[in-house]
Amino acid sequence: RATRGGEEVRAYVPSMGQIFMRRFQLVTQFRQSLEEGQVTVHYQPKVTLPNRQVQGVEALVRWQHPEFGKLDPDEFVPAVEAAGLIGALTSFVLEQALRRVRKWLDEGLRISAAVNLSVRNLADSEFPAKVLDALRRFDVPPELLTFELTESGVMSDPQRALPILRELHSLGIVLAVDDFGTGYSSLAYLRQLPVDQVKIDKSFVLGMGTDLGDLAVVRSIVELGHSPGLTVVAEGVEEDIARDQLEAMGCDVAQGYLISRPLSEERLEAWLQARTVR
Ligand code: C2E
Ligand code: CA
Ligand code: CA
Ligand code: CA
Repeated sequence: RATRGGEEVRAYVPSMGQIFMRRFQLVTQFRQSLEEGQVTVHYQPKVTLPNRQVQGVEALVRWQHPEFGKLDPDEFVPAVEAAGLIGALTSFVLEQALRRVRKWLDEGLRISAAVNLSVRNLADSEFPAKVLDALRRFDVPPELLTFELTESGVMSDPQRALPILRELHSLGIVLAVDDFGTGYSSLAYLRQLPVDQVKIDKSFVLGMGTDLGDLAVVRSIVELGHSPGLTVVAEGVEEDIARDQLEAMGCDVAQGYLISRPLSEERLEAWLQARTVR
């Protein structure tokens, strides 16, 4: 409880019942929200180091809910996953992203799009066929599509996930391990996965300016990631100094608020117009 201007202000703390009800509402409304256009995709640019060319964008889902307002994916993606609706979410994001890539190709730009996968996508043996079908429909070359998956996602059921990852990889799709450094897997283990990229978790990148431990983690991921020839991406690049340090270490790609926040389609187009020569 806090007092403001003599009036007592009570912090709103939802009860378990309210949290449950909201989650329930979210999952029951999700499909319709997709159809009604409340769910959209924002895109965050990634640039190469040191020359700072636009290398690609990461697709990040957003939900503008009529009652609850702007919802964070960290809130609704787990609920959508638990309800068995992640297939619909991933297809939606994938199609939006491929439509963008197609549009850029038509304008003479080669920009790749990265889509986040859930572990549940990797439990669907039909998933690679669905992806291939989408690539064909939008006539996008597979190397312009990246899938990002967390190490815990792969590690939770490797028997099931691995054949699907191998199939996606054999199609020519780029595979990235997201949030790297937060889980258990060693880089030695990574070598056995069909993976092309590691994304250093933003907690280390955000901390590297003030915490020598974080700096050491970032440095070792860059070094060890390069030895098997992986592309190393840093997320959470908010400061010039972080970018400069990453550049000096030889990190390949930077993503973060310093370069740009995630942008709506329209704002991304304006951002690209200002950065690229067409
Ligand atoms: P993620 O894949 O690790 O995505 C990066 C998150 O970091 C994004 O949060 C992004 O907005 C944020 N970020 C980017 N640059 C900076 C920075 O410089 N500083 C800080 N502090 N944060 C930065 P967002 O968009 O809220 O997404 C959160 C998570 O939700 C994602 O984490 C991802 O795990 C999940 N997610 C988002 N979209 C999808 C989707 O389409 N499918 C699935 N399965 N998961 C998604
Ligand atoms: Ca990601
Ligand atoms: Ca991440
Ligand atoms: Ca994350």
